Amino acid sequence: MQIVRDIDTEIGEDSPPERVVAWMLNRFAGRRLVVTTAFGMEGCALIDMIARHGVPVPVLYLDTGFLFPETLQLRDRLARRYPHLSFENRGTSLTPEAQETLYGPELWARDPDTCCNLRKVDPMRRALGDVDVWVTGLTRSQSPSRAGLRVVEWDWKYQLLGVHPLATWDRNRVWEYVQQHGVPYNELHGRGYPTLGCTHCTLPVAGNVTGEYTREGRWRGMEKNECGLHQIVGKAS
Ligand code: SF4
Repeated sequence: MQIVRDIDTEIGEDSPPERVVAWMLNRFAGRRLVVTTAFGMEGCALIDMIARHGVPVPVLYLDTGFLFPETLQLRDRLARRYPHLSFENRGTSLTPEAQETLYGPELWARDPDTCCNLRKVDPMRRALGDVDVWVTGLTRSQSPSRAGLRVVEWDWKYQLLGVHPLATWDRNRVWEYVQQHGVPYNELHGRGYPTLGCTHCTLPVAGNVTGEYTREGRWRGMEKNECGLHQIVGKAS
């Protein structure tokens, strides 16, 4: 992909996240650029970095209908702190009750892939339909499947440019940033939840302390460890 090859000469893979953010806001000014978040700690740090530039970037999120109350409270705290960013829910219109009628009870326990497709993947595909640049808080250290993540890469799944400013950071570094800058974060991190997803599929991890990342608490007892939103190819094409 020519645009990715051009960009490789503009921003290095080891560039600090703050520099990547400054570069992308300038490079893609006037393009349809959005950040998406599930309100994990990485997303909060990323939102803060972007907000410092005073640019009105849309922050899209998916209310699956099964978010923790603490996650929704965090959304409200972030919206109050960064009033020039627009926090937009792009979640499905399929209510939990309608899903139960159509697919039966507790789909997440019987067929979590279908449940994630209905409540996350399909809505995200719709949300990104008219977007040029998709900014995420993904990092390489989050899972083996994300180890090859590039700072800027063509996203074949959604056919747009993905920018991942925090790619080189780990949770400790993110936690340092959050503390340094007083960034709001989900209080559940302090109660043993390293990551936050839907209430049905997210459990606390014994011994976990704020600043330690693991995906152990997600879809426990199942093969699944990704919701399917991100298809990491790990190479420029
Ligand atoms: S995380 Fe669980 S409840 Fe949420 S969409 Fe996926 S399977 Fe459904």
